[in-house]
Amino acid sequence: MAKRIKMPIKSESEIRKMRVAGEVASEVLQASAAFVEPGRTTAEVDAFAAELIAERGGIPTFFGYRGFPGNICISINEEVVHGIGGSRKIQPGDLVSIDIGVTLGGWIGDNAVTVAVDPISPESKRLLAVTEQSLFEAIDHAREGVRLADLCGSVETYVNNYGFTVVRQLVGHGVGKELHEKPEVPNFRPAGSTPKLKAGMVLAIEPMVNTGVGDVDWLDDGWTVVTSDRKPSAHFEHTVLVTNGDPELLTWRPRTALPEQLGVTL
Ligand code: MG
Repeated sequence: MAKRIKMPIKSESEIRKMRVAGEVASEVLQASAAFVEPGRTTAEVDAFAAELIAERGGIPTFFGYRGFPGNICISINEEVVHGIGGSRKIQPGDLVSIDIGVTLGGWIGDNAVTVAVDPISPESKRLLAVTEQSLFEAIDHAREGVRLADLCGSVETYVNNYGFTVVRQLVGHGVGKELHEKPEVPNFRPAGSTPKLKAGMVLAIEPMVNTGVGDVDWLDDGWTVVTSDRKPSAHFEHTVLVTNGDPELLTWRPRTALPEQLGVTL
């Protein structure tokens, strides 16, 4: 039985505002990613991002969301998502996932990237390349008339081909004035029938990909999600506008190397 989901459609003027929020979220994420260095603490990265967001007139969307204590999410290695900046020092070999939401003029841009702190292992390099490309596999489906299930399923299919797993307990989401709007955007093909995408929908697509098992646990802080086997995980996210033609990225950053350019093969 198909669930009836009312999915928000943004007007042209709302999309214009979301482009601005997305641009700021992108700038802050790229600057924060460049700020990641061995010896810096995750609290320092959080504070750096918060200052940039404030300078641009924005609000860190995640701060206070259901009581979240950080300005951004910063998660290292086995931490999948929702890590809180603190005294942990970044070290060579770390995979540092940064997720930044910016609210500007009431509209939200949401994006994430996993930063490699060199030298990283060949498996970590492979994980990053595959996770980033899995995001773009999904983005390519963000077109009017495509079934949501096909977009979602494309992530898991791609990831499993490389021997990695997707996290199933956390999902992407619609985004707009609210951080989490309809529909849910899992990184696997959901059971049952799903709606067709419509132009004007805005989706935060965010593959969370593990090198080991897909299962996750929550740490005692109530927020930080870690892989159950404590093996590394990666997270890439963009805010994407569904259109009649090519998908439009409302958040943007340069692509890193494609898997084949890195010699990553099936
Ligand atoms: Mg998100």
